[in-house]
Formats: sequence, structure tokens, C-alpha cells
Amino acid sequence: MIVITKVTVLGAGTMGHGIAHAAMMAGCDTVLYDVAPAAVEKGRRAIGGILEEGIVRGNVTRADAAAATARLTTTTSLAGALSGSRFIIEAAPEQIGLKLALLADIEKLAPADAVIASNTSSLSVTEMAAALSNPRRLAGMHFFNPVHKMKLVEVVRALESSDETLQTVEAVARQMGKETVIVRDSAGFVTSRVNAMIGNEAFYMLQEGVASARDIDKALKLGLNHPMGPFELVDLVGLDTRLSVLEFLHKSLGEKYRPCPLLVQHVKAGRLGKKVGRGVYDYPAV
Ligand code: NAD
Repeated sequence: MIVITKVTVLGAGTMGHGIAHAAMMAGCDTVLYDVAPAAVEKGRRAIGGILEEGIVRGNVTRADAAAATARLTTTTSLAGALSGSRFIIEAAPEQIGLKLALLADIEKLAPADAVIASNTSSLSVTEMAAALSNPRRLAGMHFFNPVHKMKLVEVVRALESSDETLQTVEAVARQMGKETVIVRDSAGFVTSRVNAMIGNEAFYMLQEGVASARDIDKALKLGLNHPMGPFELVDLVGLDTRLSVLEFLHKSLGEKYRPCPLLVQHVKAGRLGKKVGRGVYDYPAV
């Protein structure tokens, strides 16, 4: 049985802090890295918030939360984060150039046999693997938002991912209490492809005046049994992240994924979602 005891998470944003929390709760020594000190601090606070919520709800004891917190190290030193690390999860922004540059740094700074998992929602995991001298050690590990509530991890097999890499990624996901599905590397995998399509269609309906955002959300929740409306969900995901996914799907899979102009406008207006206090809806308290 594969048991991983140390995990490095690169990127402390919406996903990175949630992944770090899952790793800490799975008993792993966890290093959370970000380029910006403010982002690291925000990530640490967000993890504290999840733990506190867990205590209030009775899901975790104060002692277990304290033990998990003691397993967390945060840093803005990439060399420090990667030194001696055998399992690395990258949760940096959804831009291929940025991810390839980060992989080049990982190649230089991490042990040559470290397994690398990318949390990309849609980008080519095969293209990322090709940036390494040993592409067999990279696979996709697609978590869902919010990580502490969502059960699934899509494990993405790049063209050259080894069976051992896939097995290690699956083992870590299971250690974190997640269910897995194995998906061949293909734009948007299973979930992002369907989700981006639904979300884009919702923006087209809003643009055409078919219904209000609130009523489109209500229709999908009460009529189709979706747990969240498409606008509530995109506000949580981040409109910039969703736009990047759609742009990539459009380029890879064709016309039906062209991003809706109203979504593009929201991103240009800085309406990036809950993380900045305004997206499709306003969140004055954030
Ligand atoms: P985010 O913008 O919330 O966080 C990204 C973090 O990465 C920021 O804190 C930023 O400072 C940091 N960063 C910037 N450059 C970096 C670098 N060179 N190295 C390390 N960190 C760097 O983004 P997010 O929503 O957490 O998305 C991260 C990844 O997870 C993306 O690939 C995204 O597609 C994927 N993802 C997102 C969601 C979601 O719902 N938001 C769901 C699943 C997967």
C-alpha cells in the first residue's frame, strides 16, 4: 500500500488552501507555497476558518484541528517548499505558460523521483508532462471547490503517465478521503467540460434576457435538482478561472465552447466572483 507522509502544495488560492487542508487532515506534513506573502497568509487564515467551522459542526475535535495545524508550514520560498518533497500538487493559476515555468522550476528544485500532480481544470496534462525530462511522473489531480466538501478527484492520465504515478495519485486522494475516477487527458476532462457548457449557456440566457440570474439559478436548483445554480457556482469558482477554461475548450474542441460575451464583460469589469466580493452577485461582507 502506498502511504505518502509529506505533500507540497504550490499556490495558496481558492484551491491550494483547500488541498493543503485535505493533506493536513490526512496526516501529511504539508507545505503550502505561494509567490505572494499576502496570498500565503490568506490561505493560512482560510484553512483556520475551515477547521473552526469543522469544530463548530462537530466534524473535528479541537485537538485534531490543532494537530493538523501543527503539520502545516507556509512559505514563499519555492526552493524550501520543494526540497526533499516527494509529492507535489500544483494549484497555480490556469495559464499554461505559468504552469510550464513552474514545472521547469520543480524540475530544478525537487527530487528527480517526486510525483507531480496538477490540479488544472482543463489544460493539457500531457503538454505539462512534456516539460519534464521524465514525463512519466506527472498526472492530473483535479479537485473540486470547496475541497473540504467535495468528494471527487478526477485523476487524469497524461499520454505518458506511468501506472505507478497514477497509483500514487489515487492513493493520496483516498488518504484524503476522496473518491476517484480515471480520465484520459482530454480538454476539460469529464466535469469541467460539462460544467463550462452549462455555465456558458446560463450566461447566454442572461444576455438574451431569458430570465434573471436569480431565476436561472432557482430553475436549475428546483427544476433540475442541481445543488447550486450556475451563477452561484461560477461566483464560487471565479469568473476569470471559468473564462480561461472556456477559452481553452473553445480552442481545443470548437465553436460550441465560445465564451459568452457577457461573461467576458464581467471579467473585464473585475467581477471575478466571491473571492473579490463581486461576481454575478455582490458579496458586500467579503
Ligand atoms: P486562485 O487565483 O484562487 O489561486 C491561485 C494562486 O496561485 C494565487 O494565490 C496566486 O498568488 C498563486 N500563484 C500565482 N503564480 C504562482 C506561481 N508561479 N507559483 C505558485 N503559485 C502562484 O486560483 P484557483 O481557483 O485556486 O485555481 C488554481 C488551479 O486550480 C487552476 O489550475 C484552476 O483551473 C484549478 N481549479 C480551480 C477550481 C475552482 O473552482 N476555482 C476548481 C478545480 C480546479
